[in-house]
Amino acid sequence: MTTATNRKTAQNYVSGRWIDPEYESMLDVENPCTGETFARVPLSTAAEANRAIEAAHEAFKDWGQTAASRRAQPIFKLAELIGQNEDRIVRSIAEELGKSLPDSIAEVKRMRENCQAASGMPILQQGDKLVGAAAGIDSEVLKLPLGVFAMIAPFNFPGMVPFWFLPYALASGNTFVIKPSEQVPMTMQAMAELIDQCGLPEGVFNLVNGDKTVGEAFMAHPKVVGVSVVGSSTTARHVAATCAANGKRFQALGGAKNHLVAMPDANVDAMIANMLTSCFGCAGQRCMASSVLVGVGEEMYNLVTKKFIQAAREIVMGDVLDPNFANDPLVMGPVVSSKAKQRILDLIDKGISEGANLVVDGRAFTPPEGCEKGHFIAPTVFNGVTPEMTIHKIEIFGPVVCIMKADSLDEAIQMVNDHEFGNGASIYTQSGYHARKFKLEAQAGMIGINVGIPAPVAHLPFGGVKGSIFSDIKAQGKEVVNFYTEKKIITERYWEE
Ligand code: NAD
Repeated sequence: MTTATNRKTAQNYVSGRWIDPEYESMLDVENPCTGETFARVPLSTAAEANRAIEAAHEAFKDWGQTAASRRAQPIFKLAELIGQNEDRIVRSIAEELGKSLPDSIAEVKRMRENCQAASGMPILQQGDKLVGAAAGIDSEVLKLPLGVFAMIAPFNFPGMVPFWFLPYALASGNTFVIKPSEQVPMTMQAMAELIDQCGLPEGVFNLVNGDKTVGEAFMAHPKVVGVSVVGSSTTARHVAATCAANGKRFQALGGAKNHLVAMPDANVDAMIANMLTSCFGCAGQRCMASSVLVGVGEEMYNLVTKKFIQAAREIVMGDVLDPNFANDPLVMGPVVSSKAKQRILDLIDKGISEGANLVVDGRAFTPPEGCEKGHFIAPTVFNGVTPEMTIHKIEIFGPVVCIMKADSLDEAIQMVNDHEFGNGASIYTQSGYHARKFKLEAQAGMIGINVGIPAPVAHLPFGGVKGSIFSDIKAQGKEVVNFYTEKKIITERYWEE
């Protein structure tokens, strides 16, 4: 068995073996901090995707019949392996994405937590029974595995997002094919190596590197029962429509624009510190990152502007693996690629041309020695932003923050509700009345009360509403078990012999 350690070219993992796939082309994998290429990834052909699906289909014949307690064991073991290899996975995320070490550590913890949650599958997958559904008749609900499930991953959480799905699909008796993001393929290489050690039979888990050709092949293959995608809303909407047309189950989580609403009674210093990590963690490339601050009332709007500008200037930037500051909670790395950087710079220009005030300009950041080719943009802040401006309407997915003013809580909630996206939204207040109103009326899937990143833990569902999701079953926790199982309802009666 070869290992992924030091491998310079990513491989596919199919039927328990590493393979060099047929590919359409090779992409360089860059360290976004230095701009250096450290690995290459093949963009596999559709035939390679089909090969992995066939392997998973074959493996389902036994795995789907395996006892629930036995299926949970490799997932439990995987949680242990993640713990033992935490440092290596953390460094892989930091190297290929430029995510800070504290953020990468948090990501790996959540991967492990999802394995722990999925290890409870013998309880999560239990059905129901109603004795006496009618006279002499009993009814029961079975939750049965279905077959091959596929996952298409985004770049911004190379480890965690796949783990919203993978451990649950496997523990519930299904088999799995995954396509990591072609921009950050190396973390899932390392994970496949650990999965190889956790005791799963061959073909139960498979990995195919590639771009949308592989994703399209997953959706076209008749033996794939369902597909989970997390990505931009354009991709999520497309995957949802294609799977619906092809008769497949789907989970499709898309983009976001998350508002943080500051009420006049908020605890200002704690709030600003909290806003800072929400806006600039992972250089704003998180689906739960906030990118809009709404001050309610003139006074709070001015205070948020003043204090947030000061705080944004305290962010430390550079190579996230530089031991001099790697563990600083305020360290921020670059964005993922030169293409992403250019898109963000164009949107900053758009904000200026539409009349927003650029109060912190991160465009001119000079990277430290060794990072001259990195894709850095420093924290950037606009105030005087209005709802119809492009920088408010579009998901920028970078360290760019809009500050807006509302005259009342009702107006702030209206801003949240009028927006196309509805992933997360938070309120800062000491008032239970206002907090309750916000949690009931704001149209977002995940609500924070004095919490700037209201991302649920693994045991609870994760997902938005409106243009942030194109399916009705959310990710992770017991929720996702409904996606991975068919409810079969038995109605039974026995006549006296
Ligand atoms: P993306 O849409 O560019 O790509 C996501 C994945 O889809 C990649 O693996 C890509 O290869 C694949 N893909 C692209 N086109 C495809 C097609 N036609 N058919 C099949 N697969 C296709 O997204 P990204 O830039 O990698 O990720 C960032 C986006 O993901 C942001 O919009 C962010 O908000 C979103 N995101 C959302 C959540 C959430 O929970 N809602 C979580 C993380 C990221």
